[in-house]
Amino acid sequence: MAAELVRSDRSIDVYARVSQLKRNEKREPSTDGQVSVCRVRLADLGLAEGKVLVDPGPSAWNPAIERPAWDELMDRLERGVSGGFIVFDLERFTRQPKDGERMIGVAARGLLVLDSESEYDLRTPNGKRAFRDAINAAAYYSDRLSTRSARGKKLKAMAGEPNGSARPFGFEDDRVTQREDEAAILRELTARFLAGELQDALIADLNARGIPTTQGRPWTRPALKTLLTRQRNCGRIIYTDPASGLTSVVGRLPGEPIVSEEDFDRATAIFAARRRGRPSSPHYLCSSFAVCGQPGCGHILHGRTRNGLKPYPDGSVSRSYWCNPTAGGCGKTEVDQRALDSAARALVVEILSDTRNADAIENAAYEAASEALQLDIKIAEAEAVAKALTDRLGRGEITLARYDLVIKPADERIANLQAERAALPDPGPVPGTQQSLGASRAKWQQRWDIADYKGRRDLLKMALRGKHLVIQPAQGGRGSTDQVDIVRRITIE
Ligand SMILES: [Zn+2]
Repeated sequence: MAAELVRSDRSIDVYARVSQLKRNEKREPSTDGQVSVCRVRLADLGLAEGKVLVDPGPSAWNPAIERPAWDELMDRLERGVSGGFIVFDLERFTRQPKDGERMIGVAARGLLVLDSESEYDLRTPNGKRAFRDAINAAAYYSDRLSTRSARGKKLKAMAGEPNGSARPFGFEDDRVTQREDEAAILRELTARFLAGELQDALIADLNARGIPTTQGRPWTRPALKTLLTRQRNCGRIIYTDPASGLTSVVGRLPGEPIVSEEDFDRATAIFAARRRGRPSSPHYLCSSFAVCGQPGCGHILHGRTRNGLKPYPDGSVSRSYWCNPTAGGCGKTEVDQRALDSAARALVVEILSDTRNADAIENAAYEAASEALQLDIKIAEAEAVAKALTDRLGRGEITLARYDLVIKPADERIANLQAERAALPDPGPVPGTQQSLGASRAKWQQRWDIADYKGRRDLLKMALRGKHLVIQPAQGGRGSTDQVDIVRRITIE
């Protein structure tokens, strides 16, 4: 950092405490030694020395334990008595991202936060990022010490170390050595994507060339997105602190990365800007809820218009849901859009008008602030944040670099929340008992009929509770449009 940034008209406090890992780390001096080094540093910088504060206990790193000197330091900073503080080693000192965030807060008010060697200017975005990366790296290496714990395993997985799961495309089983043929394909895909080729075209090409995923499956949109937005492509090792949700780069894979950081960041930003840019078309109510029932397939059915077929009675073009082969589907399952949407109405009314279901769903899951609802709210909020960022990028209010920096933690958070949400046990719809139907059936029908597109999708979501409408292939083509026949082709799984 430039020297002119390290300036203060007030004195700078010195803070010291014993490191968490003192017994194993010989390089860290005693608290007296730490204070001496800090004093020298302050003198070098021409800064006035303020109060020397020391938490002597060996547990002073633990935020759950009383740290009177730390508290006094924070108090002095908050009251503006001192102009900042210096510690011996900011990185090792701040194994707690929480303490780190507090320091960033202090610095945001224009106070100096220094360590004895490098200084982070926490008033600038770059300084903050470097500091956060350092904190996270410290937390990461600290957590890695407990690799035998479940959490350690999880962290290893997050960091991309071997942990028994599938080999990443482009790499050998050690997850570090590049597999040249796949690395070349990954480079090619990134370049073609950046050149504006459509995802579906890339997927179709891969599948046509007989290049499967590392699990031996055909490529799909989510699989392609996962591949192209994987940080390891440009050599980054990423860590997300579970407490703060903060994601940062904690290391790099050795050697030349498969894709340059610049290309990788561009591809990621394109995905980030697109991700919610394509809302489900109002024509396809069951979009993303309907999946293919062909054994071994299970792809999400896509909407398509059928210009060659007889239009609907109101004159509008005929539409279908089908298992799109260019998106990795089997091509065997197709169902008329209007017929499936009206069958969905019947199913939703059936499920929701069962009083046990309705009570369970509305009262427990949706009105009593259940865990699922809490998560749904958090997901909605996180998605709103991501969307706002994308909008700002679109309006040119933030740079691509800045956007990319902030969108990653947001995306990571959404993914984590969604994983958490998906892991919640779902009781599933209880088959309707005939006696409880009647009045409530009319109520739900009415609610459906007055709802708009989004309202109906919400009702569908409420009824399905994380499950899908699995559509069996018809005997021929799209099959009958008779509602009874359609319902017979649907299972809820
Ligand atoms: Zn299929």
